[in-house]
Amino acid sequence: MEKLIDKSGRRINYLRLSITEKCNLKCIYCSRYVQSDERKIGFMTPEEIERIVHIFQKIDRVKIRLTGGEPLLRSDIVEITKRLSKFHSVDSFLTTNGILLKRYAQLLKDAGLKRINISLDSLKEDVFKRITSGGNIKDVIEGIYQAKMVGFEPIKLNVVLLRGINDGEINSFIDFGERMGIIIRFIEVMPLGMKHWKRYFVSNDELISRLKGLFDKRYPIISDGPARYYKLKNGMEVGFISPISHNFCDTCSRLRITSDGFLRTCLVNGREYNLIGLLREGGSDDEIIEFLRKAIEEKQGCGDYSDITHFRPMVEIGG
Ligand code: SAM
Repeated sequence: MEKLIDKSGRRINYLRLSITEKCNLKCIYCSRYVQSDERKIGFMTPEEIERIVHIFQKIDRVKIRLTGGEPLLRSDIVEITKRLSKFHSVDSFLTTNGILLKRYAQLLKDAGLKRINISLDSLKEDVFKRITSGGNIKDVIEGIYQAKMVGFEPIKLNVVLLRGINDGEINSFIDFGERMGIIIRFIEVMPLGMKHWKRYFVSNDELISRLKGLFDKRYPIISDGPARYYKLKNGMEVGFISPISHNFCDTCSRLRITSDGFLRTCLVNGREYNLIGLLREGGSDDEIIEFLRKAIEEKQGCGDYSDITHFRPMVEIGG
């Protein structure tokens, strides 16, 4: 079958699938501060998620990242993972804040999950509490240990740096990555869910110049999707995801599906397509594939991340 290629020639084979809007943390850059229309359509069921993934994998080999909200808040997360793992041409990944990971790591590994990314913005108890509005860092650290123990490899730790809050912890994160054998990735904060984001913004160029002395210059910088990886002298890799300072739209292979089943072809552009409606009205696989192709035809070539105006926070879109 013809692959999903958009009008800019990008092959679309990466699906970020939000499975809940709920989160057990309330990060200061990721929560709602303006009202939007409440849709209240409800979450997609495991059967609906499987159906969507089934259709995608008929078209191409796909990467599916389960996200949210906090995906481990879905009590059927293991069932969802199992349903995706049975497709040979699907690589299923998960992004989590790690709070419930200690409980789920082994179950998810057994269910066939391939990789885990964990979000953690501070290694200090009080700063973590402040950023997450009350989270307990101990839960996340225990979750990371457990994920290592059950054999997830590589584990990537995503860190959003905020000036004046956690930007003094760069070297602590590098040390932590080395100690734990995990890849640290620094992500620039985007104007989703944070009103005065510019006040807190730290550019990755600034970070790179602060860390320059640690880089092993014998190795090239590796670009992998939106991330650029540098090799450090200690053998570790450190990644930088820079949506604001280094636009990476030309490599975009993504679609997003919100937890209530709406398709988004671009994070910057707020347009949504009612995929779940078609599914629930009994749309056939062919009709759904046609729907996907039409939406992808309209996928924006390039968007300005520093000028996102729809203000729907990541927790709702699926980060
Ligand atoms: N709960 C899961 C987690 O914490 O990884 C998945 C959802 S969370 C929305 C996914 C990622 O989006 C996290 O790494 C978070 O830091 C990132 N994120 C959320 N809002 C962001 C923003 N305004 N700018 C940059 N990254 C953001």
